[in-house]
This record gives sequence, structure tokens and C-alpha cells, in this order.
Amino acid sequence: MTIRILLCTLAFLLAAAAPAADTEKTAAGDLVITPIRHASLMLQFAGKVIHIDPWSQGDYSSMPRADYIFITDIHGDHLDKAMVDKLKKDSTIIVAPAAVAKTITGAVVMNNGEKKKFEEFEVEAVPMYNIQRGPQPGALYHTKGRGNGYILTLGGKRLYLAGDTEAIPEMKALKNIDIAFVCMNLPYTMTPEEAAAGVKAFRPKVVYPYHYRGSDIKAFAALLKDEKSIEVRLREWY
Ligand SMILES: [Zn+2]
Repeated sequence: MTIRILLCTLAFLLAAAAPAADTEKTAAGDLVITPIRHASLMLQFAGKVIHIDPWSQGDYSSMPRADYIFITDIHGDHLDKAMVDKLKKDSTIIVAPAAVAKTITGAVVMNNGEKKKFEEFEVEAVPMYNIQRGPQPGALYHTKGRGNGYILTLGGKRLYLAGDTEAIPEMKALKNIDIAFVCMNLPYTMTPEEAAAGVKAFRPKVVYPYHYRGSDIKAFAALLKDEKSIEVRLREWY
């Protein structure tokens, strides 16, 4: 009896410790999406673990190691070599733009506009950049071509990771996105209003605000509340 109570307690504690995840049906089985922190998330698909921008501010204590790691840009909240080293195995494929591959040597380099096919999914690197915001006049936080957003196609579902960007024309022109992760924080990316305008243009079926520290994501959701074909998913990222 005592053992049973102990086991029940243990099961409860483990369930409580597991981060909340969303499961999507695809033509090739379930896609499990686990928000971790800020721009960090994990995808599980076709028996593989895909970590996006793993950052040591997240709690990785219950996370499996990576079969794939995607990195968007050089800033510390996206490129954390120590965390990459902890999550990678000998077989891990790391995908990154050239600027990141200077630090993460051995990464598969993708530039904006390039496409690649891996065994379980396909990926396209897309632009992410500032139009107007930077550390001083004439400079931008994210210059065009340095970082990558990514579109992953997994079992027919198209998942868009915006990276650190404003609502650039390339975002607004996206087609057939099922699930989108869109940033919003000042001064580095954009406001919830700009993010909502970008999302209204490309109309994903589902959108997760991410990388939103200090921003009002309820205001973002309110701006999209009349868009019945767009589901806004507010999750705990901090
Ligand atoms: Zn960032």
C-alpha cells in the first residue's frame, strides 16, 4: 500500500514536471510541439527530436537529446554553444546560417532561400530581419541575410519559425502555413500590433506568439479575435 502511494505520488510529480505540449496530426503521424522558453522549442516527429534555438535559460532537465538542431541567428538567446553541446549526439544534424557556423563548426549551412530534404522532413530557410529598428541610426539589430527563419514541412504540415524579424514582405507573402511561431518584443523585433498585421497577411491556421518577453500577447490575440480561420495559441514561455 505504501509503495502504491509512493508510486502514485511519483507519477503525479513526473506529470506535473513535464512541460505542456501540443499534438498535431500529420499525414505521417503525430507532431508534438513543446514550448520551452523565449525562442526555444522542441518538436518530436517520426521518432526524431528537433530542438529549435536551444538556450540554457530553458529547463532541459526532462528533454531528450537532439537528432536535429536548428539555429536562427548569432545572438545569445538563439546561439548557445554550451546548450548545443549538451543536447547533441554524434549523429545530430545541426542546421544554421553561415554566421552561426563560424561558432558551431560542423553545422549544415543554409542561406535564405535554400531548401533541403532530410529523411523525415523538408526545410526551407527564409529571411528574418529588421526594417527599421537597430542599436543606432543607420544600423539594424538583424541585417537581411545573416539569420534564417525556417519553414519545416513535416508529414504535409508546414510549420514556420519566424526567427527575430519585423513583419517583412517575405513574411506577409508566405502561403499555406499551418503552424506559425511569430516573435514580438521591443526593441529587437516588433510590436504585437505589427506582428498581428503580418499574421493577417499570411493567415496561418495556427499561430503561437513566441520570443515575446515584455510584450502584451493578449493584445496580439485581441487583434486576431475576429479572424475565425486563425487560432492563436497562448502558451507559457517564461
Ligand atoms: Zn532573439
